[in-house]
Amino acid sequence: MKLSGKTALVTGGGRGIGRAVCLALARSGAAVAVNYTNGEQAAEETRALIEALGARAIIVRADVADPAQCEELFSRVGTELGDIDILVNNAGITRDALLPRMSNEDFADVIGVNLFGAFYCSRLASRSMMKKRYGRIVSIASVAGLIGNAGQANYSASKAAVIALTKTAARELGRRGITVNAVAPGFIETDMTAALGENIRDEMLRSIPENRFGSPEDVAAAVAFLCSDEAAYITGQVLAVDGGMTMGG
Ligand code: NAP
Repeated sequence: MKLSGKTALVTGGGRGIGRAVCLALARSGAAVAVNYTNGEQAAEETRALIEALGARAIIVRADVADPAQCEELFSRVGTELGDIDILVNNAGITRDALLPRMSNEDFADVIGVNLFGAFYCSRLASRSMMKKRYGRIVSIASVAGLIGNAGQANYSASKAAVIALTKTAARELGRRGITVNAVAPGFIETDMTAALGENIRDEMLRSIPENRFGSPEDVAAAVAFLCSDEAAYITGQVLAVDGGMTMGG
C-alpha cells in the first residue's frame, strides 16, 4: 500500500480511463476523490468499486472548464479527504471536424475542458503541494498532441498545450518535491473511441506495432507508476502508452 495516507483527485474519474486510474490509485492505498460532470451514476459505481478495495472515496460534481467550480472541487476534497497529494488531469472531450468546417464553439469547448481544466486544477494543486513540499501531477495528454490527428485540430492543440504546461510546471515545481508528467495514450477502448467507424479502427490498428487497442488499465498502470515514490526522479516527461504507435514520432 505504497500510497496509503495520500489523497488523490482524478478529474473525470467516473468512467473510462479515469475510472481505471481511480482504481489503480486506490489499490495502492490512496484515498480518491472522483470528479465528474454529468455521469453521476458512473461516478457512484466508481466510488463503490474503490470502497470495495478498502480505500476511502468521495464523488464531487464540477465542470473543470469553470474556474469557480474547480475552486469548490478542491475545497470539498480538502475538507473531506485532506489536501491533495496527487492530481490526475484526466477529464477530456472531443468535438471532431476537419479544419475548414470546425466551429469556433467546438474549438473553444475542447480547449476549455482539456487545457483550461488542466490549468485550473494544476494551479490549485500546486499551491497546497508547494506547502507540503510533495506532490504528483499527471495529465492525460494524447498521441494526437504529439503527431496530430486529422479531424482533431482542437483536440490535438489542447493536448500539445497540456504537454507544454506539464514541462513548464515540472521546471517550476521540481525544487519543491513535486513531479509533473504526462501520459499520452494511443487508441484506448472507451466511450470516447466507441463511436469511431470500422474503417478508422482498421486504419488505426495497422499503425500499432502491438496490433491491439489499449485498455484503460494499460494507461492506469503508467499513471500509478508516475504517482509512486519509485518515480520520484522522473519529471517533465511524456510517456506514450500506445502499443508503439508513435515511437520516434
Ligand atoms: P471518456 O470515456 O469519454 O470519459 C471522459 C471523462 O471526462 C468522463 O469521466 C467525463 O465525465 C469527464 N469529463 C468530460 N468533460 C468534463 C468536464 N467539463 N469536467 C469534468 N469532467 C469532465 O474518455 P476516456 O477515453 O476515458 O478519456 C479520458 C482522457 O484520456 C481524456 O483526457 C482523453 O482525451 C484522453 N485520451 C483518451 C484516448 C482514448 O483512446 N480513449 C486516447 C488518448 C487520450 P462524465 O462521466 O461526468 O461525463
